[in-house]
Amino acid sequence: MRKLITIVVPAYNEARNIMPLYDKIYEVFLTTNYNWEIIFVNDGSSDNTLQVLREISLTHTNCKYISFAKNFGKDNALKAGIDNATGDAIVTMDADLQHPPILLLELIKKWEEGNEIVFAYRKGANPHTSFISKIYSKVFWKILGFMSGMKLEDGISDYRILDKKVVDVILKMDEYELFLRGMIKWVGFNQVGIEYIPDERLEGESTYSKKALVKLALHGITSFSVKPLYAAIYLGFTFSFLSILYIPYVLYSLYIHADVPGWSSTMMTIVFFGGIQLIMIGVIGIYVGKMFMQTKNRPNYIIQHQNLNNE
Ligand code: UDP
Ligand code: MG
Repeated sequence: MRKLITIVVPAYNEARNIMPLYDKIYEVFLTTNYNWEIIFVNDGSSDNTLQVLREISLTHTNCKYISFAKNFGKDNALKAGIDNATGDAIVTMDADLQHPPILLLELIKKWEEGNEIVFAYRKGANPHTSFISKIYSKVFWKILGFMSGMKLEDGISDYRILDKKVVDVILKMDEYELFLRGMIKWVGFNQVGIEYIPDERLEGESTYSKKALVKLALHGITSFSVKPLYAAIYLGFTFSFLSILYIPYVLYSLYIHADVPGWSSTMMTIVFFGGIQLIMIGVIGIYVGKMFMQTKNRPNYIIQHQNLNNE
């Protein structure tokens, strides 16, 4: 029997990219022996993405869609697709054609060789971005990898193929704040990366600003490790130790040097430790917030329309 590959594509204001993407994927699968279906997840787009999806799924029976009641973010969109995929393997890829469809062949090949997870990661820096963005991206992945306690390849993307076995595990991970890249790394299995060079976005603009990336980094770190909480203790130790060293100096300046009692050093200390304390309270706050959201037990997404049984 032919194997079924389900392709999950999150789409936020991607009306003009959907048809070109479908066509490209169609061409790629012409050369193979697989059955395939595609599940587009409309993540609360404000353009006519839903309309386009409705039209194309009328004429293409292997094209399905899920449409959210509002914008829930890319990871939740991916989760919705994964939750509803029936394939022997599931591919996740972006709608904007930055993930070259031709690479599907290589992903599938590596999967057939027994790797349950095959992901694409960006080779070198993204050629379509500025120098500053390149540096930023490098630092971003390093910090994220270190603080989250996982080896995430630089520029690891959401372009990947997952075996059904992995999907079953992911389905059971009932987390409110998803960080799929990390979760998928975390589950183990045979994982292999392939390098790729991202294409330029076909239409429209990227929705991830620098600010959003900082948010993603904080989110990635705090979803995956409690290292930052330990950092508070280590910082505490370090500075207590340093202040012990500082005391003789204070005594010295008081009795020997007979200085004006040190206003500036007091101020510096207050400002410095005030800052550290605020940061650490913030860190703890993030974790408390996550627990709060998780205990509320809200769904990851709400489906407004779908045609999953498009036959
Ligand atoms: N996306 C989404 N929900 C969002 C933002 C983005 O489903 O809130 C989708 C988007 O349609 C695209 C993919 O996620 O298919 C990657 O988004 P984008 O191209 O904006 O990000 P970048 O390529 O800059 O990482
Ligand atoms: Mg993109």
